[in-house]
Order: sequence, then structure tokens, then C-alpha cells
Amino acid sequence: MNTSDLAPDYIRSIAPYQPGKPISELARELGLDEANIVKLASNENPLGISPLARQAIADAMAETALYPDGNAFELKQAICAKFGVSDAQIVPGNGSNDVLEIAARAFLAPGVEAVYSQHAFAVYPLVTQATGATGIRVPARNFGHDLQAMRAAVTQKTRMLFIANPNNPTGTLLEKTELCDFIRDLPRHVLVVLDEAYDEYLADTRKSESISWLREFEHLIVTRTFSKAYGLAGLRVGFALAHPAIADMMNRVRQPFNVNSLAQVAAVAALRDEDFVCRSRDLNDAGMRQMTEGLTQLGLRHIPSFGNFVSFHVAHAAAVNQKLLQRGVIVRPIFAYEMPDWLRVSIGLPEENARFLVVMREILAG
Ligand SMILES: *Cc1c(COP(=O)(O)O)cnc(C)c1O
Repeated sequence: MNTSDLAPDYIRSIAPYQPGKPISELARELGLDEANIVKLASNENPLGISPLARQAIADAMAETALYPDGNAFELKQAICAKFGVSDAQIVPGNGSNDVLEIAARAFLAPGVEAVYSQHAFAVYPLVTQATGATGIRVPARNFGHDLQAMRAAVTQKTRMLFIANPNNPTGTLLEKTELCDFIRDLPRHVLVVLDEAYDEYLADTRKSESISWLREFEHLIVTRTFSKAYGLAGLRVGFALAHPAIADMMNRVRQPFNVNSLAQVAAVAALRDEDFVCRSRDLNDAGMRQMTEGLTQLGLRHIPSFGNFVSFHVAHAAAVNQKLLQRGVIVRPIFAYEMPDWLRVSIGLPEENARFLVVMREILAG
């Protein structure tokens, strides 16, 4: 007997998540200087961390021998103040990845189903499968969620339906009223997990109204993260907002100290630093124009994106990715998303975007 056979079938058949390659790993593998490597692979904030968050971490360092506040009181207060929700609606997470997993563990089990879209964020099938529930993957339409087809995939057994808006890695965005109508029409035994990791990058007119929808819908879970526009990816902090009854179930499976103390104080400070989020969005808008114009000039087709990344079509994507790595540029191959001829590049600083475009030009010229 193989020891791995001790795990249930549904665990053994999980395809591990493939993260973006860290700069240090590429430097080790190819003997490159870390200072010359540009990482545009994980949709991180090129501005780094907000100065207010950095100061908050420095101030809290001396307390790290103590357990964090398991109830994340200050963080919840800051979230209540910003979003106008009650603390009973909040589930804090070790990244929003953690709250996605908590949602799955609280509501999925063998015998029930979770629906998600083709080309949607890879974590949905992972967390579904880890519970033994059956994942139902619905073909995408124009690289985005096909809500009609997703509705048609719902059965008596469906307990959860995942939507990433904007979606990663395709960057597609659903129209607000269409999405709201969709949620309203769903049977109430289906919980919608609406993952809004990139909401801060949206123009004001496009921004989600999901927080106000929470007042109408008991079957809605909204997830947000501090990893992207708030610049705290390395600290791992995010949260879910839901009806108190849903949040209660989720909090029961949450690890008591899942958000560490530095992450908690940094997140509170980051929420306060609206100027930093504004600057992040402006930088992203300009970088997105630079990147998409550059790709078009190179004759590369891209999917219009509402996130801080863009996916583009390129022949021999695996080989192109290797050549990018050899030249010290890390992007993200998205083979695992059933997009073998595409690469995803995150929007960086202007000079990082320019470096990527110059290197792409060299590679395409052969
Ligand atoms: C980056 C991302 C997240 C955030 O993950 P964290 O665990 O909060 O770092 C969540 N959902 C999507 C779609 C993402 O792209």
C-alpha cells in the first residue's frame, strides 16, 4: 500500500495550485541577480506597502510574543466603519483564500455540488474538491462567466456558486444589474460567493454594490482582500461579509488565530490610507494603457481587463515564458486555466511594464 492511498480519492486527485515564481527562486535557478529581475506574475501592488501600514507593523512588532486578537476586534471595527456592516457579518481571513476555504468547509460536503466558471480563479475547484463535494465547471462565454449557463447548471444538490468579479486570470467584469438579477433569481439553497479581490481597481461607476446587496440577500457571501490594491499580499489578510447566520457558520470552522497580529494592524492602517489606494488605482490605469497599447503594437491580442493584470495570446506560450524567465521577467503561464496559448502579465511600475514590452519585442523578433 502507498501511504498516499490513505488520503481519500477526492484529495489524491487534487491538482496542486501553481503560484507565481518568486524572484529568489528564479535568481537561484538561472544564476541571475535579483535586482535585475522583474516579477509581473502575481498581481501584487507595484507601489509596495502603504507607509501607514508599514508604521503600524513597526509599532506592533514588540507585541508579537502574544497571540493575536482571535476576534480581530480593531480590524472588524475598521471594516464596519468603512462598509457600514455589523461585526456579526464579518469573517476575517488569512488572505481571502482562507475565507474561500472556510466557506467551502462550512457549507460543502460529499454529495453536494459547487458551480464555477471555466477560466475562473483556480482556488474554487481546489477548495471544493478538498471537501469531497462535486465541482461543476461551466464553459465560459467570451472568457467570462456565462450566467445563463451557470444558472442552468444549478440543481437541488448545488450549495455554492463562485463568481470572481473581475475575474482572474481573464480580467472580465459582469455588469452590475445583470449580476444582481442573477443572484436574486437563484434558489435560496445556493450560496453565492462573490470574490471581489480587484474591486478597488474599478472606476467609481463600475464599482460593485455588493455590500448593499447583502441587506437584500441572505444567500450572498462577498470576499475582499488586502493582497492587491492594499499592498499586503505577504501578510495574508482578507475577509468575507455575509448575513450573520452565514458568518456564524463560517466562524465555527475558522481557526481561532487565523489572522496574525501584524496583518491585523497593517490592515487597519491600510483601510485608513485611502490616498494609497487611490494612487495604486491611478498607477494601474496608466500602466494598463501602457501595457495594452504595447501589446497591440507587438501584434498580440489581449482580453480587455478590469484588474491589475492582462492576459494576452501568444503562439508557443510555454517557450515564450521560458525566454522571458531567461531574461529575468516573470509572468504567469495560465495552462492550468485551460488557456495554453495565453500568458498573464501583472501591471507593474512604468519602467517594469516597459522592460517587459522591450523583452517581448526581442523574443518575438527571434
Ligand atoms: C489574488 C486573488 C485573491 C486574493 O487572494 P488572497 O488570498 O487574499 O491573497 C482572491 N481572489 C482572486 C480572484 C484573486 O485573483
